[in-house]
Amino acid sequence: MADIVNTLPFFYGNITREEAEDYLKQGGMATGLYLLRQSRNYLGGFALSVAHSHRCYHYIIEREANEMYAIAGGKSHKTPVDVIDYHSQETDGLVSLLKKPCNRPKNMLPKVGPFEDLKEKLIREYVQQKWNLQGAALEQAIISQRPKLEKLIATTAHEKMPWFHGTLKREDSEPRLQNGNRVNGKFLIRQRDERDSFALCLLHEGQVMHYRIDKDRAGKLSIPDGKKFDTLWQLVEHYSYKPDGLLRALTEPCPRPDADRRPLLPREHPSQASVISNVISKIQRIKPWGPRTGASDSNLNAYESSIDNDQAFQDGRMPMDMGVYESPYADPDELKSTSVDRSQLFLEDGELGSGNFGTVMKGVYKMRKIQKPVAVKILKNDDNNQSMRDEMLREANVMQQLDNPYIVRMIGICEAENLMLVMELADLGPLHKFLQHNKQTTMKNITELVHQVSMGMKYLEENNFVHRDLAARNVLLVMQHYAKISDFGLSKAVGEDQNYYKAKGHGKWPVKWYAPECINYFKFSSRSDVWSFGVLMWEAFSYGQKPYKGMKGNDVMQMLESGNRMDSPANCPQEMYELMKVCWTYKADERPGFVTVERRLREYYYDISH
Ligand code: ATP
Repeated sequence: MADIVNTLPFFYGNITREEAEDYLKQGGMATGLYLLRQSRNYLGGFALSVAHSHRCYHYIIEREANEMYAIAGGKSHKTPVDVIDYHSQETDGLVSLLKKPCNRPKNMLPKVGPFEDLKEKLIREYVQQKWNLQGAALEQAIISQRPKLEKLIATTAHEKMPWFHGTLKREDSEPRLQNGNRVNGKFLIRQRDERDSFALCLLHEGQVMHYRIDKDRAGKLSIPDGKKFDTLWQLVEHYSYKPDGLLRALTEPCPRPDADRRPLLPREHPSQASVISNVISKIQRIKPWGPRTGASDSNLNAYESSIDNDQAFQDGRMPMDMGVYESPYADPDELKSTSVDRSQLFLEDGELGSGNFGTVMKGVYKMRKIQKPVAVKILKNDDNNQSMRDEMLREANVMQQLDNPYIVRMIGICEAENLMLVMELADLGPLHKFLQHNKQTTMKNITELVHQVSMGMKYLEENNFVHRDLAARNVLLVMQHYAKISDFGLSKAVGEDQNYYKAKGHGKWPVKWYAPECINYFKFSSRSDVWSFGVLMWEAFSYGQKPYKGMKGNDVMQMLESGNRMDSPANCPQEMYELMKVCWTYKADERPGFVTVERRLREYYYDISH
């Protein structure tokens, strides 16, 4: 959302209410003159400032849990721009219709808040420390999970700030403020106990005042009767700007004694299900624990978060929490070898899937340091063995050269009673089947998954491989928020100069996923994978329906030649259908590559996540 809003000429970014009033005054204060700014209290929220009868009125446009935007109590809209459009037709509770935008002065960009500047650094540091990632793995983690990481950082960033003193008793906070420079407005924030309950301690005329900071049912923080904030950060920013009910505004942060040495994550959670899910669940699902009983510290109302092992908890996990995010061979103690020792490979009962070649079984591979859950493609022993054996070895040869979080990695080949291809396990199975059975999956979740597929495909494109069988059936899920591309049986390496593969003849091809040049000229490139990706998107956004249902391959070809394309799946976001149509550009050289496709998906995913 931030990207769309940033381009609006009447969006001012992180300015205060008073600054907004000054701009409206400079603009003439005609009734209905308005501007939009970033909310300084609510994460992802906005504020609308409107002039009416020579006074200014301010309305918060809150981002609701369902990703919609509304002025409190008003109608919900898809974007803040829709809220503005609506109120330019209907007052519906506003003092006036929104009549004229008050545009920013020439050359002024929307103001960036202090947190924005730090955000990048904090995210990077956090991902490095929490998952011990470097280089490409780190970059890919940040790109694919940025919206969740931003939310996490915003709600835990105070732990990094010198004014945050962690768990500290009232009596122990006072000497810290009285020590050294005893300037009025010197402050610190302390955590009152193990739960999410804080106190703001402020030096005023030599005395320390303690203001408790409550958290309401929705997780909003406030000093009693004061403004509400999503984060301690925003609270400190606000009260540094004006007292707003305190004895005075905050001036100088009282530094923590260990400010320089303290790690970003002082309370690392032992469980792999992670700090992140804790924090995210906490934001969303805080319930009251005891009655509010007064102002003394021991009686302050306390809250506990109700985190359990339900869907919300699962949803908090990120790809980096899963064992298949990085290759097991990223650990130098695990010697890389393409051959798997049969005595260390244990197959379990029950098939994961099957095909012409044989079956895919679940298993465990005992490596030097870890026991790796694996999927094992087992070649059946029959008369056709030699050609299928060659095919499997070709697939293994391609997979061996790929290493990306969004691609199923090969662990190795095992030559034993059968030829076996040992791969990373993606337990939730193929994307189309998952969506057929999980119709409650949100559009945001689907966008997140197809974005991950585009990241894996961008990697293939960069490394000069064409997949040639990209389809929802060949995207496997590790969990609901983590997809990997699989099935490299048809894949080919292509030259950097001649960046396509020319098939010798027509084969047993998935023609409904193929671009016109594949069918007409047997020509396969990353651009023809982009066409298939468009079909994969259509499958995903239609919850696993069959593309061109009921049509024969020839009819599909005729339909495409005459310029027609599949209709948008029901309820598919317009932006996503537009992208599918771009992927189905007839001429390969006019079709975008995965660099562009990934960027468009990324932008859309970030937009709907903010
Ligand atoms: P072909 O190679 O002939 O096209 P196929 O496409 O049916 O055969 P795969 O897609 O490689 O073969 O595997 C068949 C099924 O096995 C998949 O649809 C999936 O359900 C399961 N499977 C394959 N690889 C994995 C894996 N790494 N993790 C979990 N399940 C897997």
